[in-house]
Amino acid sequence: MADAAWFAWCFDHGRLHTFAAVTAPWCTAAWVRLHGDTEAEALQDKVGRFGSCVYFDQLSADQVAEVLKPQ
Ligand SMILES: [Zn+2]
Repeated sequence: MADAAWFAWCFDHGRLHTFAAVTAPWCTAAWVRLHGDTEAEALQDKVGRFGSCVYFDQLSADQVAEVLKPQ
């Protein structure tokens, strides 16, 4: 199951997204791919990189650049 899906934090919807490995991401807003094979690991990665930020307007300039860079 580990490679059947991957996780991203969406700063537009303000929540975790789960994307299937075999299809294109269904959300086209400002999300960033997270590391981790489980939802818990993905959330840990999100907190480590973006802290308690939930929405796009809470991010610092550096974090905005990280989210907007090609993934
Ligand atoms: Zn989204």
